[in-house]
Amino acid sequence: MNWDDFPKWGQKVSDWAARYHATLRDRPVRAQTKPGQISAALPAAPPETGDGMDQILKDFETIVMPGITHWQHPRFFAYFPANATPPSVLAEFLVSAIAPQCMLWQTSPAATEVETRMMDWLRQSIGLPSDFEGVIQDSASSATLAAVLTMRERALNWQGNAHGLTGAPRLRVYCSSEVHTSIDRAIWISGIGQDNLVRIPTTGPLRGMDTGKLEATILADQKAGYLPAGIIACTGGTSTGACDDITGVMDIAERYGLYTHVDAAWAGAAMICPEFRALWQGAQRADSLVFNPHKWMGAQFDCSAHFLRDASSLVKTLAIQPEYLKTHGQDGVINYSEWSVPLGRRFRALKLWFLIRSYGLEGLRARIRNHVSWAQEMAQRLGAEPDFQIVTDPVLALFTFRHLPNEGSDPDAANLSLVERINDDGRIYLTQTRIDGHVAIRFQVGQFETTKADVDQAFAVICELARK
Ligand SMILES: *Cc1c(COP(=O)(O)O)cnc(C)c1O
Repeated sequence: MNWDDFPKWGQKVSDWAARYHATLRDRPVRAQTKPGQISAALPAAPPETGDGMDQILKDFETIVMPGITHWQHPRFFAYFPANATPPSVLAEFLVSAIAPQCMLWQTSPAATEVETRMMDWLRQSIGLPSDFEGVIQDSASSATLAAVLTMRERALNWQGNAHGLTGAPRLRVYCSSEVHTSIDRAIWISGIGQDNLVRIPTTGPLRGMDTGKLEATILADQKAGYLPAGIIACTGGTSTGACDDITGVMDIAERYGLYTHVDAAWAGAAMICPEFRALWQGAQRADSLVFNPHKWMGAQFDCSAHFLRDASSLVKTLAIQPEYLKTHGQDGVINYSEWSVPLGRRFRALKLWFLIRSYGLEGLRARIRNHVSWAQEMAQRLGAEPDFQIVTDPVLALFTFRHLPNEGSDPDAANLSLVERINDDGRIYLTQTRIDGHVAIRFQVGQFETTKADVDQAFAVICELARK
């Protein structure tokens, strides 16, 4: 195939995409295939001669599509959302046609400058003060890794990269038991080590770190000869939406000179609505903060917004300037590859520009507000049923519940089996979690095409299958 044929196939693909979205409600949300089924349908060896594009697209439909779980399905209530709004998909289409590699300012000045502007639009949108700068990372995991590396270098007086951790004081990092596994992995990769990630017990209805215990632990660690390096707080934890008392955490961090990172990968998008900002009161004092516009805000995956109060600490940690990357005579320009672990970077800012211009902040807020109110209403309805129990109340648009099985059956097994039956049924998609060791079912509303009727149908499906 060559570029002369591109318009023909591009048109077909775009027609296909529109039809796909129009018929999503007719498909089972979670793929109904068995492990190995898709790979068995693929030839074991690559073709020696080229296939026609029509055959490739036909096989895509028959082999690949059955094995897709539909994240854009309006009745996707599992995990957290990964919205891909049409303007952001169009931006990605353009970016994939241009395919620039945007590691340095000069390797595509527009990518860098649109990114700087878009990160500032986002900063204003979520109410962070103007001393924050931002960079788009590929994932919240990468942003957290970059923050933990910065935390480490700052605590070691910028000597860790040069000399390694052997012989250095043992660092300590603090977080609650509700943080995402990406925090554990950042601690592993940074060489700080799992033993030095200290879990502070949680307290209160929002399951945030007990700040009294946090301070007592830091003091005890100092006494024992450890070097406290930083605190990782969360707003909207993955399991139940747990929120740390950020103000309390920042008070302590400032008292002991610790670097702070706030993981708001999911919940950060909701902060475009001022009424939700109380949940992360104090976040404006963090050193580093991440949220994923690719979750709840409508920017096609991947797009993770990483904000820093002092970007120079991050750059000091991550920048390497071999001769071939130096941009002579271009002082003052930003080379975003110095702000992240990977060198190469895609032009991710364009989809933010298309998205925010196309919907406007009011259009985005309206969706998030609907999701929050529908989730709260759903929790009320389900909680009013005699055989259901709300385990954790809604935090924004996420709550957890349990079905109370008949006398004599194991509640954990019964709820795991309920999730399985719901997902095999295919009309909706849910995932489970464990709270204090016991199974609970998560329910979150966040897909952009979801309507109130979809949420009502979820209520009906859950009741029907639980009672069957
Ligand atoms: C989704 C999520 C992450 C991981 O995000 P990636 O972008 O997939 O790395 C981290 N923390 C929280 C709270 C999340 O919800």
